[in-house]
Amino acid sequence: MPLDLAAGSAALTRALVDVESVSGGEAPLADAIEAALEGIPHLEVVRDGDAVVARTALGRASRVVIAGHIDTVPVNGNLPGRLDGDVLWGRGTVDMKGGCAVMLALAAELADPAVDVTWVWYDQEEVDSDRNGLGRLVRTRPELLAADFAVLCEPTSAEVEGGCNGTLRVDVTTRGRRAHSARAWMGENAIHAAAPILDRLAAYAPAEVEVDGLVYREGLNAVLISGGVATNVIPDECRVHVNYRFAPSRTGTEALAHVEEVFAGFEVSVADLAEGARPGLDSPLAADFLAAVGGEARPKYGWTDVARFTALGIPAVNYGPGDPSLAHADDEHVSLAEVERCERGLRAWLTRR
Ligand SMILES: [Zn+2]
Repeated sequence: MPLDLAAGSAALTRALVDVESVSGGEAPLADAIEAALEGIPHLEVVRDGDAVVARTALGRASRVVIAGHIDTVPVNGNLPGRLDGDVLWGRGTVDMKGGCAVMLALAAELADPAVDVTWVWYDQEEVDSDRNGLGRLVRTRPELLAADFAVLCEPTSAEVEGGCNGTLRVDVTTRGRRAHSARAWMGENAIHAAAPILDRLAAYAPAEVEVDGLVYREGLNAVLISGGVATNVIPDECRVHVNYRFAPSRTGTEALAHVEEVFAGFEVSVADLAEGARPGLDSPLAADFLAAVGGEARPKYGWTDVARFTALGIPAVNYGPGDPSLAHADDEHVSLAEVERCERGLRAWLTRR
């Protein structure tokens, strides 16, 4: 069934939810979005895989990207969507077809926005990062993403959430010497040697760091621990797997240097590192955005695709309908009034002169 972009973001949310689009199976939804946008005179539409990009080209002084992913986590008996009063239940209602619907309604409606707008609906956000459709566009079509500011319409309960913390995972390893536990004095116990690592973690006071006016809470935690050979062997190795969630005031390199300092004297090896993203709320476009949508900006703690924009030098925030704590839950549901509130917020910003 074709999408009716003039129906408003609430009706569009229902329509999008009912087109199943689990990661890797977005083609029917991408087809519907592309077909609905094609022929709108003020938009240039580009299809890349199952991502759809629609851009105005009005020669405005600045350009913003407004983006959302069209895939969802697997369905679990929660499609089609079910409307109960103002509340729509079903897979994707929160994460994030409400946001995608707001984008579609405004892309069609705003023929003469105050800034040029690049609308991006992309695929495969809910799976391994190397399949991410936005990441693919960054690699293959970076010119399509050029902008001065970006908004990701991920669920934030219609509040502005700026930037995101970075995340670093390391192994802190101790080594010893194996021996029979009956003759323990012949060996060296690597698990006992890990005790100071745990002491340092337990004593660590995580920082609260202000970045562009937002306070980010950090965390340094052991999340896994492994070691031991058998119940009668003195262990020769112990690994404490540590996750550092760091404020976007630090680069990944600085975060690693900090962790190496905390564990000075121990062997530290990196398992995974993703840079954080500064909220960019000091840019004039961001100030306009906050003034138009209202409310107070909050920091984003989890890592999101805003970091991909930050890596391109584009300040970015999250702003979209839906309670983020319901994302991926089988009972995810969204208030359609909140969807419409986001539509009004973005419209107010994009038409501000
Ligand atoms: Zn999402």
